[in-house]
Amino acid sequence: MSDCIFCKIIEKKIPSKVVYEDEHSLVFEDINPQAPVHALVIPKKHIPTLLDITEEDNPLIAHLVKVANKIARDKGIAERGFRIVTNCNPESGQTVYHIHLHVLGGRAMHWPPG
Ligand code: 5GP
Ligand code: ZN
Repeated sequence: MSDCIFCKIIEKKIPSKVVYEDEHSLVFEDINPQAPVHALVIPKKHIPTLLDITEEDNPLIAHLVKVANKIARDKGIAERGFRIVTNCNPESGQTVYHIHLHVLGGRAMHWPPG
């Protein structure tokens, strides 16, 4: 999608600190980290929100979770604990309308979230 910032990151039209990449996904460091580890796992397919996921995306979503787990292990936060967050629509705080899993860790997380 031409006006999507994350599609531009996938196309390398906007620079990012890439952590991992494969055929279907890209992982990069969040530009405004909220924890010592804060990576974004995104599909290369442009899907605006969680609500736009369809049945045919099931393998893709499973893949994104697998990649998020790999990132947590690689970053050394898997055993300590980490959080996966996906915001959906304005009241959740979603600001980029290309789905992404926030992988957060490296500090104690609070609950309930803000
Ligand atoms: P959301 O608010 O949609 O859940 O999360 C969007 C995330 O993308 C935010 O944490 C924000 O810091 C991050 N972000 C927005 N623009 C850029 C960018 O150009 N580069 C990177 N690396 N992260 C971005
Ligand atoms: Zn996009």
